[in-house]
Amino acid sequence: MRSIALTLLAAALACQAAEKTLDIYFMDAEGGQATLFVTPAGQSILVDTGWPGARDADRIVAAAHQAGITKLDYVLITHFHIDHVGGVPELVKRLHVDTFIDHGTSVEHDKAGDALYKAYVDARAQTRHIEIKPGDRVPLKGIDWQIVSAAGDLITQPLPGAGQKNPLCGTDARRDVDTTENARSVGSLITFGKFRVVDLGDLTWNKEQELVCPVNRIGTADVYIVSHHGMNMSGSATFVHALQARVAIMDNGARKGGTPEAYQAIKSSPGITDIWQLHRAVAGGDANNTTDQLTANVAETPDQGFGIKLSAQRDGSFTVTNLRTGFSKRYPAR
Ligand SMILES: [Zn+2]
Ligand SMILES: [Zn+2]
Repeated sequence: MRSIALTLLAAALACQAAEKTLDIYFMDAEGGQATLFVTPAGQSILVDTGWPGARDADRIVAAAHQAGITKLDYVLITHFHIDHVGGVPELVKRLHVDTFIDHGTSVEHDKAGDALYKAYVDARAQTRHIEIKPGDRVPLKGIDWQIVSAAGDLITQPLPGAGQKNPLCGTDARRDVDTTENARSVGSLITFGKFRVVDLGDLTWNKEQELVCPVNRIGTADVYIVSHHGMNMSGSATFVHALQARVAIMDNGARKGGTPEAYQAIKSSPGITDIWQLHRAVAGGDANNTTDQLTANVAETPDQGFGIKLSAQRDGSFTVTNLRTGFSKRYPAR
């Protein structure tokens, strides 16, 4: 009897160990974004490429190597700002990309904006390219990648299971209309079984609120990838609290993003368990930073560019690891 029970236990453990995860690598792009998703089927999608030059491209390649990835199936560019699209020319020299996804064309036509966009278009010239719209999906096996914003447009109807009234609507004053690329960010809701993660790039205040007011069109999420590096042009309580995220992960730099306003809006969010940060925000002090244990880069110098890794299971449980220390924390299914 006992040996049968042990055999069953061993089989159950083996089954659990073999269960494939959705892995997410948050690279340190020093206040830019570069987030690599590796699906349970082994497909890869990189959200943004960090800044121009070798540093961020090398960090992306290192994470891809760690994930066992030798090419990128997709690179999704949220918007045409230098800390998101700037890394493309160096990245494509190092790693093959099958398909680029973006919202179309840049609306920023000063000299720098035009040069940045041209460098991107030149770098992707030989590559398949998809222009994506709200309501579209990125075709991936085993996970659902739903686009909720792009080029200033938003999904117009609540997603399945969403549509709840948001009691905070109207409490955060609206801001001036944002005519920059930020308000045109491609935003995604990524679902793997019961696990849900939201990433809106640098989407700003008004657009974020329109997604959750008067009713919440996105629904809730387990993990909130903090909008706009935690800058205070994004991340109102009206938006953040509607997600009811358990964990927030902020891709801030030591001196970019990580504002007290964005931090406190998350900290006061219902159901929040932990905030993880790529950097300690120098200006925030202890009151507006998470613990060192949940911070990938504590000291501003020397810059070692540590990342954060998240592994999610189909049941909604997930583990987050600080790649500086190896410290891991598991968040159970709910
Ligand atoms: Zn940015
Ligand atoms: Zn931006």
